[in-house]
Amino acid sequence: MARRKKDDFECTFCGKTKDETLILIAGLNGHICETCIAQAQQILEEELYQTKRKFQFSLPSLLNPKKIKEYLDQYVIGQDDAKKVLSVAVYNHYKRLNQPEDDEIEIEKSNIMMVGRTGTGKTLLAKTIARFLNVPFAIVDATVFTEAGYVGEDVESILSRLLQVCNYDVQAAEKGIIYIDEIDKITRKSDNPSITRDVSGEGVQQSMLKLLEGSEVLVPPQGGRKHPEQKMVKINTQNILFICGGAFDGLERMIANRIQKAVIGFKSDNLIGRNNEESLLRYVSPRDIKSFGLIPELIGRLPVLTYLEPLDAKTLRLILTQPKNALVKQYKKLFKMEKIDLSFSESALDFIVEKAIEFKLGARGLRSICEAIMTDAMFELPSKSHVHEFVVTLEYAQDKITGEKVKTLKIAS
Ligand code: ADP
Repeated sequence: MARRKKDDFECTFCGKTKDETLILIAGLNGHICETCIAQAQQILEEELYQTKRKFQFSLPSLLNPKKIKEYLDQYVIGQDDAKKVLSVAVYNHYKRLNQPEDDEIEIEKSNIMMVGRTGTGKTLLAKTIARFLNVPFAIVDATVFTEAGYVGEDVESILSRLLQVCNYDVQAAEKGIIYIDEIDKITRKSDNPSITRDVSGEGVQQSMLKLLEGSEVLVPPQGGRKHPEQKMVKINTQNILFICGGAFDGLERMIANRIQKAVIGFKSDNLIGRNNEESLLRYVSPRDIKSFGLIPELIGRLPVLTYLEPLDAKTLRLILTQPKNALVKQYKKLFKMEKIDLSFSESALDFIVEKAIEFKLGARGLRSICEAIMTDAMFELPSKSHVHEFVVTLEYAQDKITGEKVKTLKIAS
């Protein structure tokens, strides 16, 4: 084989020889010509532009809190108070993002705290609002964190999730929304200062303070534990909106006790019983959250406090059919793809709601019950090309929720 001459060097990307190019830059194992450099540059710009374009941080001119709530109404049933509070808080947050820098009056950040039983729509609300605003959004679970230096994840990795969501575009992440779930699980373990450190409770709360109030934080890009070899990314949390949510089991009793003290003569049990339909959570105050075990400094950094009502049968029934992506609509779509017209009888829908309440599964349970009812049909029907209609009747639904399935559902709860 003829030995290659020096002039035979070619671009490793397009194959052009040195003679055919203006410039050929040598790398360790190859070369690149000016045309390929320009193309690579274009790709790079397009990619970066795409990431930036994906998110938008200025308020669309016609947007107002009412419009935000109207959007939430399409996906989340009920919870009017929480929706109003969230719409206003998020609207103000975006006004804050767009405030002139040299202004003397600085609008402060208003992070949000939502209390409400599990499965009442806290995460759904946060998710829906982030989708509407088209900003980076991450959900994290407060229970995985521990104070720095202990087994568990560093609190800073809350921000790693946000970074990952927006392809490590730091500028986008710095204006995102983070939903911290199960905030009630990092309460102080006891009121007495003890010799053992409370690394997953108060320790985590302390570490969260600087994140919530807005400061420059060094974040491990891949999340997890910080270690010396890992390259850190600096993120300013000043414009990140934090929404925290928790079920706060037992909070209602604390509220009842507080109210009882104010209204002498009411027993707290009476109050809870009397107001079961409208939960006592509507009277929640920062004091109750403090009694529950969150430190005042953290509560102070979550100035917007709102609550979600427990879901009654009427609401659950609406959740099944009304939201834009309601469960029933989803099953109908799945069946339509098989050219089958699916419908549910009214009594079958009532039965599903009844079971969700009976198993104390809330809205989260509607899905597991529907799955239990629909699995056989979804298994059988695609192979029966002559079937073009399928009605889920009360009898069918009752038949599918057999003893065995009921057991699994109960365990799942
Ligand atoms: P939480 O965060 O309060 O525990 P989620 O928001 O995760 O509860 O709710 C679980 C599921 O239940 C959601 O995905 C949604 O399908 C349904 N859901 C709960 N509450 C509502 C609601 N108010 N309106 C519509 N769907 C709801």
